[in-house]
Amino acid sequence: MCGIVGFTGVRSAAPILLDGLKKLEYRGYDSAGIAVMDHHVISLSKVTGRIANLCEKTHDGKCMAGSTGIGHTRWATHGAPTEENAHPHLSNDGRFAVVHNGIIENYIALREELIRDGYHFESETDTEVIVHLIEMYYRGDMREALIRTANQLRGSYALGVLCSEEPDKIYAVREASPLILGLGIGENFFASDVTALVNHTRNVIYLEDGEFAELSRSSIRVFDGAGQEIRKKSTRILWDVQAAEKGGFEHFMLKEIMEQPGAVKATISPRIKDGRIVFDELKALIPALPNIRKIMITACGSAYYAGCAGKYALEKLCRIPVETQLASELRYSDPLIDEQTLLIVISQSGETADTIAAMKECKARGAKTLAIVNVVGSTVAKMADYTVYTWAGPEIAVATTKGYTTQISVLYLLALYLSDCLGLDSGKKAVMIEALQALPRQIQQAIDMNPGIPGLARKYHASKALFFIGRNTDYAVALEGALKMKEISYLHAEAYAAGELKHGTIALIEEHQPVIALCCNPLIMEKTMNNIVEVKSRGAEVLALTYRNNQKILSVADDLLFIPQIDPLFSAVVEIVPLQLLAYYVAKENECDIDKPKNLAKSVTVE
Ligand code: GLU
Repeated sequence: MCGIVGFTGVRSAAPILLDGLKKLEYRGYDSAGIAVMDHHVISLSKVTGRIANLCEKTHDGKCMAGSTGIGHTRWATHGAPTEENAHPHLSNDGRFAVVHNGIIENYIALREELIRDGYHFESETDTEVIVHLIEMYYRGDMREALIRTANQLRGSYALGVLCSEEPDKIYAVREASPLILGLGIGENFFASDVTALVNHTRNVIYLEDGEFAELSRSSIRVFDGAGQEIRKKSTRILWDVQAAEKGGFEHFMLKEIMEQPGAVKATISPRIKDGRIVFDELKALIPALPNIRKIMITACGSAYYAGCAGKYALEKLCRIPVETQLASELRYSDPLIDEQTLLIVISQSGETADTIAAMKECKARGAKTLAIVNVVGSTVAKMADYTVYTWAGPEIAVATTKGYTTQISVLYLLALYLSDCLGLDSGKKAVMIEALQALPRQIQQAIDMNPGIPGLARKYHASKALFFIGRNTDYAVALEGALKMKEISYLHAEAYAAGELKHGTIALIEEHQPVIALCCNPLIMEKTMNNIVEVKSRGAEVLALTYRNNQKILSVADDLLFIPQIDPLFSAVVEIVPLQLLAYYVAKENECDIDKPKNLAKSVTVE
């Protein structure tokens, strides 16, 4: 995820581009750049860090002449957040500039071909192949060059393109990443979302996947993938700027919950090729695999719970013992770790102090380290022997949602990948890969299936405490469900392994005590149902999370949350979604500051 903008008109482009980028900064902020065209010359300015640095470097855009240009604020996926990797990227002949939001899945093969054809690369990004392809295909007709380029690309992309032969035009291309065109008077715009447009115009055209547009100061023309011109209707935006930044949602957390189908897809789909899991970043680990005797997962908070959920798939598919340890405990535990241990470290920010310390401790004992991180170029990413990025895009709400689900998605992919590398074929590989590919759709179904959550929140928000129970994978999800509730609603919430109730916790159950029972694992469904009956007979009010049409639960639970039917090995990423929504609406009932809960910070860089 990142923000892109484009402008063509008579006013000076650079200040308008900078202003648009500031509005889009929440979408990505590790580096930024603009390209402006003056007569037939494209000039470029790029910085690392925030847009403020770009404003400083360009004197608020004053030192870049020209009234046509494109801009980008980056959230790196491929290549560290350096100036070379920042967008826009220029073609070798300097005639084309490109900004890109998304991931080009086949960039390695394209890059190799382009190098063989004599193009040289200045960056490590996946994006740079695009600008060289455009140069290669350009024969005096930009439309043709863009169609031929798009035909080569696999993945997701919103593109902004400049061509110095056409000094008053900007081009926009869209495939599975957002892009909106803004209609001005004597000037036109495009941007990743309306926040960057509403200061200039409220009349917009939404580009659809496979479409591209040619914008001049006096016209906007839209074409389909075959180059046929399409008539598009414009829409009038009625949102205010703040709502637009949150995509029309009241809070970033809700927006990020809703982004999960897309985020999980961005994590999973580039790693599945021809029916196999592919991790180019892990190739060097393969020779060491047969010597690995233990996998240790370490992390803090939700990332730790992601590890707890992923452990089941790793152990089941790889047949290697998997331990989970909180990083703050592991670092002081004199751990039994050696060169036969694979340490999996999980951190959204890649800057979590306890996680970094645990990692150092284990590295010193010889462990091989594999990091699962969202922020490219972060400390954990740099320190690890192998790094797998989650590609969730920036997460603004302090309480993680898409960060957590994409971490578990990586663990699922990893479980299948490692078992394949170890030559363990369960005979069900194809079915499992299909199951992974279905997860984004099933997350969406889990969102759509539960319209009653705000009503349940009204029922439960004033409770003194909430108990979450479940077994096996359900228990791992219960841990995260309870944490979400605590973090944002400040309600006392505890997760228990359902089988543990009778060993003590059941003493806390009294009349009307809400118990949230997770029953999504058919293998141990009957057992959890017994626990439901136990708490019910002591007066508990039970809210069960289960499969649609699970008739057995209907007879014992007071209220229900649903998910679609899924292999329990992979169900955690879907199961958590109704619980995230429940926590969100309970917090809303309690009028909490949902995106910035008290006493919490997004990235915990202290011990
Ligand atoms: N994949 C591109 C990069 O890493 C674009 C990332 C983005 O959408 O910010 O540069």
